[in-house]
Amino acid sequence: MFFRPTPIKLLQRALGRHKVLLSPEDLLTYSYDVSLERNVPEVVILAESTEDVITAVEFALDEGYNVTPRGAGTGMVGGAVPLKRGIVVSTERMNQILELNQEQKYIVVEPGVLTAQVQEEAAKVDLFYPPDPSSYKVSTIGGNVAVNSGGLRCVKYGTTKQYVLGLEFVTARGEVCYTGALSRHNDPVDLTPLLIGSEGTLGIITQVALRLIDTPTHRGTLRVAFPALEAAGNAAAEIMAVGLLPSVCELMDKSVLDAVTAYTGTKLEDGTEAMLLIEVDGNAEEVQHKMEQVQLICRKRQALEILYTDVPTEAEKLWTLRRSISPSLARLSTGKLNEDVSVPRSKLPELLLHTRQIAKRYNLLIPCFGHAGDGNIHVNVMFDPEDELQKQRALTAVEDVFKEVVRLGGAISGEHGIGLVKKDFMRLQMTAAELDTLHSIKNAFDPEGLFNPGKVLPD
Ligand SMILES: Cc1cc2nc3c(=O)[nH]c(=O)nc-3n(C[C@H](O)[C@H](O)[C@H](O)COP(=O)(O)OP(=O)(O)OC[C@H]3O[C@@H](n4cnc5c(N)ncnc54)[C@H](O)[C@@H]3O)c2cc1C
Repeated sequence: MFFRPTPIKLLQRALGRHKVLLSPEDLLTYSYDVSLERNVPEVVILAESTEDVITAVEFALDEGYNVTPRGAGTGMVGGAVPLKRGIVVSTERMNQILELNQEQKYIVVEPGVLTAQVQEEAAKVDLFYPPDPSSYKVSTIGGNVAVNSGGLRCVKYGTTKQYVLGLEFVTARGEVCYTGALSRHNDPVDLTPLLIGSEGTLGIITQVALRLIDTPTHRGTLRVAFPALEAAGNAAAEIMAVGLLPSVCELMDKSVLDAVTAYTGTKLEDGTEAMLLIEVDGNAEEVQHKMEQVQLICRKRQALEILYTDVPTEAEKLWTLRRSISPSLARLSTGKLNEDVSVPRSKLPELLLHTRQIAKRYNLLIPCFGHAGDGNIHVNVMFDPEDELQKQRALTAVEDVFKEVVRLGGAISGEHGIGLVKKDFMRLQMTAAELDTLHSIKNAFDPEGLFNPGKVLPD
């Protein structure tokens, strides 16, 4: 008797069985990211080349699946979580450095290369790749580009988009497109900016050319304790306003400090209510000058304690509290809604005060920290996932924070993206005409709704 091979068998033949995951335990591994969203995919394809991605897209088109591209799954908004009747195309095995040009200062990589790997490769030839999401040791360049990830240094150096020179991507028809520096004809219209931050809704990125810059020769680090949150927020705003342009300007509020000091056993000056961690870089003279100016501003704003150094090993000690935030907060509760809102810098103190009121109103702990230098703050609403009423209060508190952010002229996401989690809030910050235009772009790239359908844009 003759049996016609099933579509899955044909896919396995085309790709090799080792690239097609079907077992329940394997599928479960690709069912989540760092958000609360969960959904088990029907198939996971571990692409090793652009051709594999094309095969996956063709399979999805033929069999009526939708496709979720996935890097390392460290996203916080459900972007990499598959949907109903969805397959995951993971680019984690597309992890080759394709070219590093020291003279022209660029690197071309596959999307599964880790952010840290790009930084390390650049450093080997005395060059610098500044984007540094805190997840840099595990997140992929494909994910960074798809979300336009920021990081601690983006206050001075900008986000991922400032470094993308060109892309190769696979379209929703299974064709390959090249943009920017990777296009062969110096195309007059560059599609690169549309793909950056598109969160896997327009195409699957299969190659990335990244700009590298010269490495700053010197660095200075300051850790400053303040008696009030407003004082720290105002100091950060003034440091930026006078043009000192630090390379890092991170704020921690009292709840965060309580958590990290308990975790690390650090003793702070009595009366410390907030802290700034500031880094300046450049040549030796510049660093010296900036460190002095930052100290002057912080003293004027009633700083209780200023620790500073330009010795790298000493600087690491000053970084300890900032680096301990994630594990410290994880000890406070099992549930956390981490919202990366951003407001104009001058509005930061107002937002922080308002968040404190929201915490009181809903009887929740809401530790805040983040990139104060560019007004991008992580508001962490802690809750017990087993307590349904508390979970609902946490979700309402987040909505209140978003409304306040928009009222202050800010955005509901500074760097984590929109995904599934924030899509319904897009109406708060975008007009109907703007959303319609985004829908039109999505339809032009992906008329069948193949890639991450229903994410980012509200229905
Ligand atoms: C501890 C921790 C700290 C973090 N700190 C930061 C931070 O400081 N700044 C920051 O911005 N983010 C941060 N993040 C969030 C996250 O790490 C970033 O969004 C990161 O860029 C996601 O990369 P990824 O490879 O994990 O992508 P995934 O989570 O796998 O995917 C993210 C999105 O990109 C899409 N995607 C992935 N690969 C491709 C591709 N090849 N082509 C098209 N679309 C694709 C997915 O569909 C999804 O929508 C942090 C996360 C954690 C867990």
